Formats: sequence, structure tokens, C-alpha cells
Amino acid sequence: MGGFYMLIDVKALANKIKSNVRKDVEENCSHTPKLAIIQVGDNPASNSYIKGKRKDCEEVGIICELYRFIESTTTDYLIHQIKSIQSSVDGVIVQLPLPKHILEKAVIDAIDPNKDVDGFTKSSEFKPCTAEGIVRLLTNNHENDYYLRGKDVLIINRSFIVGRPLVNLLLDLDATVTVAHSFTNNLQDKMRRADIIIVAVGIPNFVKAEDVKPGAFVVDVGINRVNGKLVGDVDPRCYEKAQCTPVPGGVGLLTRAILLSNVVEAVKH
Ligand code: NAP
Repeated sequence: MGGFYMLIDVKALANKIKSNVRKDVEENCSHTPKLAIIQVGDNPASNSYIKGKRKDCEEVGIICELYRFIESTTTDYLIHQIKSIQSSVDGVIVQLPLPKHILEKAVIDAIDPNKDVDGFTKSSEFKPCTAEGIVRLLTNNHENDYYLRGKDVLIINRSFIVGRPLVNLLLDLDATVTVAHSFTNNLQDKMRRADIIIVAVGIPNFVKAEDVKPGAFVVDVGINRVNGKLVGDVDPRCYEKAQCTPVPGGVGLLTRAILLSNVVEAVKH
């Protein structure tokens, strides 16, 4: 392989989104936006994500309040609390995963669609942050709106927070979308044909260099911990052959930036 080595600069776009949010908070909001984070228990990964979200909010001038409930909290109690908390804030998010005894869907559905800034409920006013962040990345820096028109996009994921919302957003931009999951046959053939691969499987090195078309655009959504180190789903050998997003410092930054943008939109509408 030659000297082609291209990691996509996701950080620059995330910073651009964040600085627009900061400006919006200063110039276009009637009051200081307020976000409530609901946490149940003391999951170390959740603690670290929440720490990041609080830092992000501080950076752009959003007030962030953490409501933490003990592990043994019941579904009913949590729903009751969310209904009371959301009346005094602009946006509410529930940090997932919740403990197994809690009915996740019932809890999420208790969030007011006008305040569901994660975009997790069916009737939410907001687009799910990761899917929207990926679309912003794919359409960034192109002179016209037609970059995705006719492109073969392969999404390897069918979850409600990543794959499914992406299908609709990408179809709206005239892409030809294929969705793969754990029962998909001949996945390697599909990967080799795709102009754009979006992978969110949760398995390190899932997408290998021999599976991608030279020059393809590969969006690595996966977050895996290997011996304490954060890695995505894409084998780093792909970086020599295709344009890839890094992990860490990739899609996660966009997810975080879009959440802030959704909080400000909640205030403006
Ligand atoms: P999920 O609900 O477990 O989805 C995983 C998807 O991968 C499922 O659709 C599953 O198929 C598919 N899959 C699993 N093994 C496969 C295989 N061998 N071949 C093809 N498809 C396979 O998880 P999620 O919540 O969507 O998250 C997925 C990954 O993205 C995780 O690593 C998560 O940490 C990461 N993530 C990152 C961000 C970010 O901001 N960077 C945001 C969200 C999620 P089935 O449907 O058939 O089971």
C-alpha cells in the first residue's frame, strides 16, 4: 500500500458545532438553557460519560443538573421523578444503560417529546444525536447538498439509536441505503461494494482493510475497551486505504456536540 493515510478531522467539525451553540446561547436564548441528566446507580462508564457531558455544557453556557438515584429505584418512582424534574428544565436525558429491573422503554417514554434532547422517543422533536452527527459529518465541506445522492451506504447496525434513524436521514438525502445486522449474509461483499460504511457493532477490528473499497468513507461508531484502551470497530490498517473516523476523537465528539445543539433548540422553540 502507498502513502495514503487519512483520518478524518472530526474534532474540527465538533468544535464548529459547539462554537455555534455557544453563540446561540449568548444571542438567541431567552434564558440560560438547562439540561437535567437522570442517572440510576453508579456505573463507571456512565460516570465518565456524564462527566464529559457536564464539561461540554459548562463550555457552552448550559446549566447541567445531575439527578442521581440509587440502584434499587423502581420504574414507577423514576417515572414520577422525571415528570416532576422536566417541568423546570429545557431538556432531559436518561443515562443508559439502566439497571436490568427497570423498564427502560417506559422510562424513556415518560420524557416530554419537547424535552427529549437525546431524540430517543418516537415522537421526539429532536433527531437522535449520533445519527444526526454522522449526517453532519457526511455532508460537511461539500459545495452542494447532493454529496450523498446515489451513494451506496452500508449501515452495520439496526438499533433504535443509531441504524434506524440513520436510514431515514440518509434516504432523505437520496443515498441508496443497505442495513446489515447479525443475520446478514455475505456482509464482506456488501462492505467491498459500499462507497460509505457506517459501523456500530461493538467488536474491535470488525471492518478489515481487505473489506473496504479503496478511497471509501468509513464511519467508526463502535466504542470498545481493549486492555483499558479505547478502540472502535475498524481495523487501523483501513486508515491506509480509506478515509476513516478515529476512535477516540471521532463520532463520540459529534454525538456530544449535537446534544448541546438540541438543548439550545429546545429553548428556542
Ligand atoms: P446494539 O443495540 O447492541 O447494536 C449492535 C448492532 O450490531 C446490532 O444491530 C447487531 O445486530 C449488530 N451486530 C452484532 N454483531 C454483528 C455481526 N457479527 N455482524 C453484523 N452485525 C452485527 O448497540 P448500539 O447501542 O447500537 O451501539 C453499537 C456500538 O456503537 C457500541 O459499540 C456502542 O458503544 C457504540 N455507540 C457509540 C456512540 C458514539 O457516540 N460514538 C453512540 C451510540 C453507540 P442484531 O440487531 O441482529 O443484534
